[in-house]
Amino acid sequence: MPDLTPYRHCELCPRRCGVDRTAGQRGFCGEGAELRIASIGAHFGEEPPLVGHDGSGTVFLTGCPCGCFFCQNYQLSAEHLGETSSVEETVRRIRELPGVRNINLVTPDHFWPHLKQVIQQLRVEGCDLPVVWNCSGYSRVELLAQQAEIVDIFLPDFKYASPELAKRCMGREDYPAVAREAIRFLVDRKGFLRPFDVTGEMAANRGVLVRHLVLPGEVANSLAVLDQLYEDHGPRLPISVMRQFRPMPECFRRSQFTRLVTDEEYRAVLEHAAELGFTRVFTQPDCGDENFVPDFRHADAPFRGNFKASGER
Ligand code: SF4
Repeated sequence: MPDLTPYRHCELCPRRCGVDRTAGQRGFCGEGAELRIASIGAHFGEEPPLVGHDGSGTVFLTGCPCGCFFCQNYQLSAEHLGETSSVEETVRRIRELPGVRNINLVTPDHFWPHLKQVIQQLRVEGCDLPVVWNCSGYSRVELLAQQAEIVDIFLPDFKYASPELAKRCMGREDYPAVAREAIRFLVDRKGFLRPFDVTGEMAANRGVLVRHLVLPGEVANSLAVLDQLYEDHGPRLPISVMRQFRPMPECFRRSQFTRLVTDEEYRAVLEHAAELGFTRVFTQPDCGDENFVPDFRHADAPFRGNFKASGER
């Protein structure tokens, strides 16, 4: 059994709800004290050093402490699709993944007590694949310090440099300061992602890669994100500038972000990255492959693109 103590007065993320998840109470993330998973499988939609030929062994957790209204995984963050899975069952399913390059835990912070035991059990069983903590950037340094002890690669987002935008999207204007401190801590503790091979031939096995999703009409936010990352880490920080945004149902209900990112918007962000001198930049040449828009109602295969990439179909 994992140590459930952290769930009893939950402060696993900066929202610090203080609820007793073991007693059926729910905080902002909406999850209790049982591990819930939407999908486990080989995934080919990540950056090349994380994918290679065999894919990233990706575990999509249910729920999210951020709750951005446009969430590209809204089926998990808002609709809470997923099934309860014990530590033992989760370890078994991960071990059955054929030949994957790493174990990629997506939106993991609110299940840290369980995932800590999953990682420890994998190591006991001799699994030496790098563990990836694929997180929102909205993380407490106190928790990251624990996670950094047993996690190899961190993929934090840096979503918003603007407190106003963060407030509008996730109800928290402290996101920029929290994420900036979190990324500073992680880079200091783990260094940059390495080996850094854009071809994907060499597997990354440690370090930090920062992701940023460009939002329609919010180029100024993206430029400020790049400015702050440059100021903190210089131009050698590996970054992934993504343009895969697609409007989700809540966007239309709110009449916000109801379109794709334009070529001009994305180009302006990439030009700014180049002006600042960033040299390790992953880009997406078009609006993302729609085959990598997930549908977690098909838990065994939420991404159609994974079949093509793996050659299964
Ligand atoms: S993990 Fe969930 S319950 Fe715990 S503090 Fe964060 S949002 Fe609240």
